[in-house]
Amino acid sequence: MNSAATTARQPDVLVVGGGIGGLSAACALARQGLRVRVLERTKEFGEVGAGLQIAPNCTRILAEYGLLEEARSLGVVPEHMVMRDALDSRELTRLDLRDLERRYGFPYMVIHRTDLHAIFLRACEHAGVELLTDQDVVGYENTEGGARVLLRNGRSEFAPLVVAADGLHSVARRLLVGDDLVSSDYVAYRAAVPIEQVRDNGISERDVTVYIGPHCHFVQYALRRGDMFNQVAVFRSPKALAGHADWGTPDELDAAFAPACDPVRRGVALMWRDRWWQMLDRDPVENWVHGRIVLLGDAAHPPLQYMAQGAIMAIEDGWVLARHHARHHARRAAAAGAGGAPDWDAVLAAYEAVRVEHCRRVQNTARAWGELWHVDGVRRLQRNALMRQRDAYDYSFTDWVYGPTALTPDEEPPMFTPIPLSSASFEDPDGALTVAGRGTS
Ligand SMILES: Cc1cc2nc3c(=O)[nH]c(=O)nc-3n(C[C@H](O)[C@H](O)[C@H](O)COP(=O)(O)OP(=O)(O)OC[C@H]3O[C@@H](n4cnc5c(N)ncnc54)[C@H](O)[C@@H]3O)c2cc1C
Repeated sequence: MNSAATTARQPDVLVVGGGIGGLSAACALARQGLRVRVLERTKEFGEVGAGLQIAPNCTRILAEYGLLEEARSLGVVPEHMVMRDALDSRELTRLDLRDLERRYGFPYMVIHRTDLHAIFLRACEHAGVELLTDQDVVGYENTEGGARVLLRNGRSEFAPLVVAADGLHSVARRLLVGDDLVSSDYVAYRAAVPIEQVRDNGISERDVTVYIGPHCHFVQYALRRGDMFNQVAVFRSPKALAGHADWGTPDELDAAFAPACDPVRRGVALMWRDRWWQMLDRDPVENWVHGRIVLLGDAAHPPLQYMAQGAIMAIEDGWVLARHHARHHARRAAAAGAGGAPDWDAVLAAYEAVRVEHCRRVQNTARAWGELWHVDGVRRLQRNALMRQRDAYDYSFTDWVYGPTALTPDEEPPMFTPIPLSSASFEDPDGALTVAGRGTS
């Protein structure tokens, strides 16, 4: 891994961006025998942030790459995902993650992002990926038989395929699609602290706990074999709504969680206050393939994080790309009696045909899920009533996303049927009435 001049041999694939999306794609393609070169802008490969939840649609792929046991040894496999009301802390619903593992065949686990990133970095090294840092890609152009990337230092590089995995603020996305980021007016604070620091805070060390409340939510889970505790505090910023440029500041964090229950307020006191993440996404787009340049990961489909599927979708993208390469390569070899160059146009068409729709569903569901988490007043009571009615072993809301990653559109499972809020019967805490069908949805 270095920032020196690249080797003389032209790669088959250039991957721009060495985040989880870029590295996992590089690893998947190198496993196919392709020469892959990763160009990362920063001086060192790494990840900023704390924990990541990885669902069975990701751990299934890690298992195929032979990386699951390493991930398991570094992470935590929680027992339950428990949703609670952030104001009164009462339980709303739960997923039994051991049963979920039985259903989908692979675990739901949590892992420090640095650890997952390092796993893919080592896998890339092992697979012979050329890993270059200090490579700021500022331009892209399609040329005969491939595409060229232009670097800030004036150099350019060519490959038959260029994968742009340059994240939420993707240069490739700006140049090829030209759409804008969408602000949700929500901001995330994170913290990963030694477990001893939180043991008296009313936490559960064995569960992923999600407190949802009016315009805010709070996520907690143990990390690093249980030695650390991860917390994410998310809230709507009044300054963002008022159009201020410096929104999401720590004073807003404290104000947003002031009405929350005691365990949440105790947790919020420990959040990192020197950095925060404004929650941005993009509207889904259908064109990820531009000649021999293809978007992947957050560059293609940055979601709001409510489904905890952003990094997972990026990992799935690389897996699907590599699987289609293998399929087309095998078909070509059988027809021609020899290997030959990959038919990248066919591979990219197959990738786009299946991934665009799946990721559109996740992006849109993440927005809707976030809205549901943050409702207030009567809608909060309706939501709570519906969540409490849910059977903990009802998987109709997870089958479409935690099952095996589709390789073709016909393999994409049907989505769940949403339940309107207005169908809820609930206890009004003031009048002790049972109310149904107030017409809100
Ligand atoms: C609060 C929060 C919680 C989340 N929780 C989860 C979760 O539980 N589970 C989950 O699956 N997802 C989660 N996500 C989403 C997840 O973090 C992202 O979707 C994922 O990291 C995207 O990976 P990526 O590789 O596509 O992009 P990035 O991680 O942004 O990587 C892009 C890389 O490209 C490099 N780069 C950028 N521009 C250039 C350039 N011009 N030239 C060269 N290199 C460049 C960057 O330096 C970086 O290394 C969460 C996100 C947030 C904000």
